Amino acid sequence: MSAPRTISVLGATGSIGASTLDLVRRNPQAFRVVALTANRQARELAVLAREFAADVAVVADEACLPELRAALAGSGIEAAGGAQALVEAAGRGADITVAAIVGCAGLAPTMAAIEQGRIIALANKEALVSAGEVMTAAVARSGATLLPVDSEHNAIFQCLQGNDPAHVRWITLTASGGPFRDWDMARLHAATPAEAVKHPNWSMGAKISVDSATMMNKGLEFIEAFHLFPVGVERLRIIVHPQSIVHSMVEYRDGSTLAQLGPSDMRVPIASALAWPARMDTPCEPLDLAAIGELTFRQPDELRFPATRLAREAAIAGGAAPGVLNAANEIAVAAFLDGQIAFTRIVQCAEEVLARGLPPPPTSLDEVIAVDREARVRARETMEPAR
Ligand code: NDP
Repeated sequence: MSAPRTISVLGATGSIGASTLDLVRRNPQAFRVVALTANRQARELAVLAREFAADVAVVADEACLPELRAALAGSGIEAAGGAQALVEAAGRGADITVAAIVGCAGLAPTMAAIEQGRIIALANKEALVSAGEVMTAAVARSGATLLPVDSEHNAIFQCLQGNDPAHVRWITLTASGGPFRDWDMARLHAATPAEAVKHPNWSMGAKISVDSATMMNKGLEFIEAFHLFPVGVERLRIIVHPQSIVHSMVEYRDGSTLAQLGPSDMRVPIASALAWPARMDTPCEPLDLAAIGELTFRQPDELRFPATRLAREAAIAGGAAPGVLNAANEIAVAAFLDGQIAFTRIVQCAEEVLARGLPPPPTSLDEVIAVDREARVRARETMEPAR
C-alpha cells in the first residue's frame, strides 16, 4: 500500500475493533485514523484515540461523554457523545470504515458510512440482517464497496473473485458448531453463560459467542450471505467443520470447489478487507496443515440447534422477518447472559416472536428501526413469566 488510507473504526473497543487496531498499529504508514467509537468504555476509547491520534472519539452513551472529555483533555482530539454524534462521525467519509459495533445498534452509523460511497468493512452482521434490501439498495445508490469481514463471508468473497456468480452451484458456510456441538438437550438446557462464551476456536465478544453456541450466528450469517451473494437461498448451505480452518467454500457447475483456509484469527479476514484489493502482512502463524492433521465435516443437527432452520425460514419469508428474528435474538441473548432465561429458551423466544406475526416489509432506515424496536418489545413480553 502506498498513500495512507483514512480509516474509522465503529466499535473500536470491542474484539473486532482490537484486531483491526492491532493491524493499524503494525502498519502506521498505511493508515490515518479519523473516528473511533465505543458505547460506554470511555476511558479505553480515549487511550486508543490518543495512541492513534484520531480526529474524533465518540461514545454512543451520552452519559459517558464527560468521562471521555476528561480523558481526552489537552489532546486536541474532539470528543462527542450520543446516537447522532455516532452517525455524524461515521459519515466523515474515511476511505475505509470498519463497522464493528455489536447488534442492530450499529445500523444507523453503518448506513451513514455507506452514504459516503467509500469502503465499508462489515463485521456488524446484525445491521445487514435487519436492514437487508434497505442496506443493499443504499450500497448500490451510493456506490460504496461492502467488503465482508465475517470470516465465512470474507472467504466466499475471495472464492468468488474472477468468477461469474451465475456458475455457482453451492455456497457452503462452515460452522465450528460452537462449544456445545456435542451436548445433548438436557445439558444444553442447563448451559451457563460462562460456558457459552468459551468458544473452542475463536476469541470474540460475548454476544457473538452466545450466538455461536446456539448456532444463531450461523443463521444470521446465512441471511448475511443471502444479501451479499445473490445466488438464491436454495444455493446456500451450512456444514459443521469443528476445526474452523476452512472458512467457507464455493462450488461451481463444473464440480470445482474453491475454499479459503486460514488460522482462526480475525486479523486474517480483517487484513484482507483493509488492504483490498491488495494484500498486507498479519502476525498470524502460517497454516500448518500437517500439525492440524485432520479436517472433518458433518451435517448440522437442526433438532438440537434449530436456529439455522429459523434463519433460513426468515430469509425465505423476507420483509421484516430477518429483522424481527435478529431483534428477538438480541433481547433473548442479553436475558440469557443476565441469568434470566435458560440457554434453550433463546431460540424458542425468537421463534415465538416470529410466530406472533410480522409488520409490513420495511422500506427505509426509519422503518427498519421501527421493526427492530417493536420486535424488542415483543421479545421482552415473551420472556415475562406466565401469570
Ligand atoms: P464486542 O462486544 O467485543 O464489541 C462491541 C463494540 O461495539 C464495542 O466497541 C462496544 O463498545 C460497541 N457497542 C456495543 N453496544 C453499542 C451501542 N449500543 N452503540 C454503539 N456501540 C456499541 O463485539 P465483537 O467485536 O465480538 O463483535 C462486533 C461485531 O462483529 C458483531 O456484529 C459480531 O457479530 C461481528 N463479528 C465478530 C467476530 C469476532 O470474532 N468477534 C467475528 C465475526 C463477526 P463498549 O466497549 O463501550 O461496550
